[in-house]
Amino acid sequence: MAKNTKYIFVTGGVLSSLGKGLASAAIGMLLESRGLTVTIQKLDPYINVDPGTMNPFQHGEVFVTDDGAETDLDLGHYERFTHAKLGKNNNFTTGKIYDQVITKERKGEYLGGTVQVIPHITDEIKQSIRLVSDDADVVIVEIGGTIGDIESLPFLEAIRQFKADAGASNVIYIHLTLVPYIKTACEVKTKPTQHSVKELRSIGIQPDILLCRTESYLSQEIKSKIALFCNVGADDVFTAKDVDCIYEVPLVYNKEGLGDNILKKLNIWARAPRLDEWKEMVEKLKNPRFSVNIAIVGKYVDLTESYKSLNEALTHGGISNDARVNLQYVDSTTLTQENVVQTLSKSDGVLVPGGFGSRGIEGKIIAAKYARENKVPYFGICLGMHMAVIEIARNLLNLEDAHGQEFDPYTPYPVIYLMKEWYDEQTHKIEKRDEDSDKGGTMRLGAYPCKLVPDTFAMAAYKQDEISERHRHRFEFNNEYIDQLVKAGLVISGTSPDHELVEIVELKDHPWYLGCQFHPEFKSKPGNPHPLFREFIKASLKNAKK
Ligand code: GLN
Repeated sequence: MAKNTKYIFVTGGVLSSLGKGLASAAIGMLLESRGLTVTIQKLDPYINVDPGTMNPFQHGEVFVTDDGAETDLDLGHYERFTHAKLGKNNNFTTGKIYDQVITKERKGEYLGGTVQVIPHITDEIKQSIRLVSDDADVVIVEIGGTIGDIESLPFLEAIRQFKADAGASNVIYIHLTLVPYIKTACEVKTKPTQHSVKELRSIGIQPDILLCRTESYLSQEIKSKIALFCNVGADDVFTAKDVDCIYEVPLVYNKEGLGDNILKKLNIWARAPRLDEWKEMVEKLKNPRFSVNIAIVGKYVDLTESYKSLNEALTHGGISNDARVNLQYVDSTTLTQENVVQTLSKSDGVLVPGGFGSRGIEGKIIAAKYARENKVPYFGICLGMHMAVIEIARNLLNLEDAHGQEFDPYTPYPVIYLMKEWYDEQTHKIEKRDEDSDKGGTMRLGAYPCKLVPDTFAMAAYKQDEISERHRHRFEFNNEYIDQLVKAGLVISGTSPDHELVEIVELKDHPWYLGCQFHPEFKSKPGNPHPLFREFIKASLKNAKK
């Protein structure tokens, strides 16, 4: 354990979706604004080893880190709000913890002892927390789920023990809870919070700070009442008021004095927060001069959680163009050649995001064709790039049955295919995969370098010739078709440094048309919008003004 590292454990009560991830990210941001280095870790009580194999409908987006970990979407918030470099060790699940313990048991590492939740599982959890402690002044650990869940118990027990291990002055517990406003009674109700804290205390954790989600600021009287029942000081109850935009959260916390309170409790001396740039960014975001409509043509359209980073990256692209980005979610399963013009004509730009499986594929190809033919800015991300390549092969090369092997394993023209063997820049070895490979952890995952070609949209956006972007896919552009496709007008604007893997494709005589094999949305931040999103929004805005 690094000397003097401080720990903040964030738990949640009453119900899920209170925004614990955002709260943790915002606390991280506030501490950074005072010159401290932070890191944030998520402990998820579910049994999957990682969220990689989970359906986005159930779990939302899978966020990918530079080191190729498939993680909870809250890590996306952590990276967008702070400068913390996150990786595999920033997200542990029950599955991963048990997997490690069972592996040790099989190796005989417990020397014949009976392996139990306490101390073996809890020790493994504590060990995992220490893995991220090294380079940070403050480690923020968010516990997924809600107090009272069966699965959470080992994690809560581990963080309870952690205080004794790390020293009482180095650990605080922040509990996020709900204080609902009951219309018929015209008052806010504190009972759910009292119950949630009671539950927490029954397992030995006394929260130091309560963050109360409410519609409006809590009166001093209500705060005192909560404090009394929950055994905290009246100054330790904070209003986590609903806000219009998520980037306002740290500003609201700061106004309430949360940063000062945390520092006092952890006995940290730090400078006053520097929030001017962040405030300016929020101001810009809330009061843009222009407005642009973007169609997202995808499958998981009902659930914006599935495209969390994408939505944020588009918003960031808007910030750098002084524009509000209005998103129109188009369900590709309903898109046809007949209704495409009517459906997409209100949009200034078309984006086809990442995705898996064949459902809704033809609608996405139709959207790519519409954008190409009507000179509407097009941004294809991973699967969206595959759609562009298939569309161009079918309609410009007249390879009628061209397809990706993911959707038709027997297509005569597999322009997108399963690469069986390649030298991997991430793992530094020859990787192999085939149709029977495991679904979990067999994709090209994490950050890979990409070389850009001059005089392309990509180069104009990034303004540098080598970039690094994050991947999460199994299928690739098939180089066998490169010459034909280039002849038909496709521009290869980015490749792996050895030129073996096509990473970015474009079209020339078009205002802005780009497909990339990676997921740029994972690296966009509100204060530093991603170049491709900036340029896509810029081109769409130009189209809107026409
Ligand atoms: N399904 C495609 C593949 O596995 C694309 C994945 C994605 O869009 N992330 O290659």
